[in-house]
This record gives sequence, structure tokens and C-alpha cells, in this order.
Amino acid sequence: AVRGRDSVFRYAEDGLAIVLSPTQRTDLDVLMQVVDRVQAAIAEGLPVEGRTIHVQSSVGVCAQSAAPEASGEALMTAADCALRIARRAGGGAARAFDPAMQDQVESDHRLAAQVADALRDGQIKPWFQPQIDAATGSLTGLEALARWHHPELGVLSPDQFLPAISAAGLTADLSDMILDQTLSSMADWDEDGLDVPCIGVNLSLDELSDPRLADRIAFQVDQHGLTPDRISIEILETVTLQDGAEAVVRNLHTLRRSGFRLELDDFGTGAASIAHIAQFGVHRIKIDRSFVHGLKEGKEQQRLVAAILGFANQLDIETLAEGVETSDERALLAEMGCGQLQGFGIARPMPRDDVSRWIRNHGRAHQQPLERMTIRGTA
Ligand code: C2E
Ligand code: CA
Ligand code: CA
Repeated sequence: AVRGRDSVFRYAEDGLAIVLSPTQRTDLDVLMQVVDRVQAAIAEGLPVEGRTIHVQSSVGVCAQSAAPEASGEALMTAADCALRIARRAGGGAARAFDPAMQDQVESDHRLAAQVADALRDGQIKPWFQPQIDAATGSLTGLEALARWHHPELGVLSPDQFLPAISAAGLTADLSDMILDQTLSSMADWDEDGLDVPCIGVNLSLDELSDPRLADRIAFQVDQHGLTPDRISIEILETVTLQDGAEAVVRNLHTLRRSGFRLELDDFGTGAASIAHIAQFGVHRIKIDRSFVHGLKEGKEQQRLVAAILGFANQLDIETLAEGVETSDERALLAEMGCGQLQGFGIARPMPRDDVSRWIRNHGRAHQQPLERMTIRGTA
């Protein structure tokens, strides 16, 4: 994909660097054309032991004119900076260097240096976002979402610190902690007589590739005196598609057999096939919020959502719409037969201590119309 005068060499542990020889035009368009060619060449597939492995590549580029200084080192550092940002976006992204990226990369470095202590000191905890039945409004469950209570920066969202966790090799520690806190919260709510039927936890591909994962989770649930049917494992639709991810497949089957619930997160953004969904015995699909946003106005979008709901219905799979923000969206989704709803329009994610109050208030609020009806009925 490159010319003879360009150089290609190994870079860092798992990368390649390409240095393009000077040409008449080295503007961004030309650079991006080269990037497209290189990514396409890498994506073609490599034969390994009789199978074809498809590799995605993230790319960072910098033109000499855009580098902060006129040295080879500055050029490489700038391209590397763009690469880090591209990696963070995932999915084989390409990014051109921009000086603002330096701050982002520096902040990533700072967070990476602090993240191990933060985990150990309990600064990172799950918050919980309610999920409700679309028809009755009653609470059907919660989703655990990680938050970092950073002493200087305030509350950080997972997008801001998951890359640091993963770079520090602490992914398993994070999920252990999130699950542990989730289970102990659930046990406390049970004790307080609050009905939390089920809590969803998010697992990344990294964790799902750990052959000991299923046993570890089952052990933790048992330790808290709870049962697996009250824990939902949320996996990204794309996770089920990885070729040759035998550990992932084994984990999902073991979790399913042990009685855990499985859900496909961000449904509609990946490309899970019907065969995959049937193979894993998925309990619920979480329709991605991109389908929900602007649903009222988008006729095409409504048709897509109706198709997803119909398909889930046929397969006896529960449905939940994510990112429900407005009462219009809420009403329309209920009318279309979507089973459950989650989103800022119902409740934002909240700390553990706020959940009991929310559940009590919510219980009162959503029973009111029913009570009023009964009064009218008896009058
Ligand atoms: P997700 O699993 O799709 O989680 C839903 C995200 O949507 C959450 O963002 C939530 O705050 C946000 N959200 C909920 N309702 C609405 C809404 O009405 N409108 C909008 N615009 N957003 C809404 P959050 O908490 O920042 O989490 C981002 C992602 O980070 C999650 O996406 C999940 O993939 C990942 N994540 C969160 N916690 C964990 C964790 O403990 N472990 C792992 N591996 N990943 C996690
Ligand atoms: Ca999720
Ligand atoms: Ca989601």
C-alpha cells in the first residue's frame, strides 16, 4: 500500500510506523488517502493456520508541517499522540494530529498514574440507573455504571477513565469491585424490603476473554447469598461476533447455564446475527439510544424500531429501549410494544444511597393513577 521510497518499520510493541517520503503535496487529503489504502490492505485478512484472521487498525498521522517542532522526534511523538486518540475511539479509527490532543493524552497519563490508588481507595464505585416496565411504569431493574469520584476533577464518567483502567491492566479489578458493590447493594435493598428484581453489569471484551470469568462471578454471587437470575451480564453486540474468541463463547455458555441473564447492549449498532442471538440464549436486547433519539419525527426510524421489536417478540426476547429522554419517546415506545425503558427521562444514574429514596418515591408516584382509578371505580 506504500511506495518503494517510503519506509515501514515496527513501532512499539504491537504497531507499525510508516514514514512517507517527501512528495509535492502532503496535505491532509493525500495523507488520508494513504491511510485508507493501508487500513484496507490490513483489513483484507491474513491466513493463519488455515483460517482467515481479520485485523482492524487504528491510525494516527501527522504531516511534517503540522508537527509542533521541525524534528523527526517531534513528528513521531505527534503521530503517536494522534494514534492514542484514534485507539481511544476504537473500531479502527484514524486521526490526524491536532495540538489539543496533547492535553487529552497528558490527562490520560495522569489518570492512568492515579487509577490504581483510586480503585483501592474506593473512589471508583457503581452508580445505578433505573429501568422500568413501559406499560405499567414499575421498576424492573437497575444498571450499574462505573463512576470515579475524583478528588480534584469531580465525578468522572467511564469514557473518561476506562482507557486508563485498561492501560493499567486493571480491567478485572474494576469488574470485581463493581460486581461486589452491586451485589452488596442488592442484598441491602433486599433487607430494606425494596424490590430490585435485577441489576445489569457491563463487561468488556477483555474480561469476557478471561477463562476464569464465569467461575469468578458465580462465586461472588454465591458469597453474597444471592442468585444468578438477578444479575444480567451486558455484552456489546460486537463481542459475540469476534472470530475464534473461544474463551468468550465458553464464558457466555457457562454463565447462561449457571442461570445468569444475558443481554445485548447497544443493539442495532453492531451486526449480531440471528444465529448468534439464538446460540447464546440472549434474554434481552437493549435497543441503542441512537434509535430512540428523535423517534417521534423519524418515520424510517420508527419502522426500524418496529422491526426490531417484532423480531425480538418472535424469538421471545425481552426488549428495553435506552436513552429515553422525553415523554413523547416514552409514550411512543410503550405504544409500539417495547417492553422496558431506561434513560434520563425516567431517571439519571445515581449513587447507591439515592436509590432507595428514588424507588420509594417512584413506587408512590406510579401507583397514584391506579389508586385514583380505584376510588373512581368504587364511588
Ligand atoms: P452503556 O452500557 O451503553 O451505558 C449507558 C450510558 O448511557 C451511560 O453512560 C448512561 O449514563 C447513559 N445514558 C443513560 N440514559 C441516557 C439518556 O437518556 N441520554 C443520554 N444521552 N445518555 C444516557 P455512562 O455511565 O457514561 O457509561 C458509558 C459506557 O461505559 C457504558 O455504556 C458502558 O459501555 C461503559 N461502562 C460503564 N460502566 C462500566 C463498567 O463497570 N465496566 C465496563 N467494562 N464498562 C462500563
Ligand atoms: Ca450497558
Ligand atoms: Ca448501551
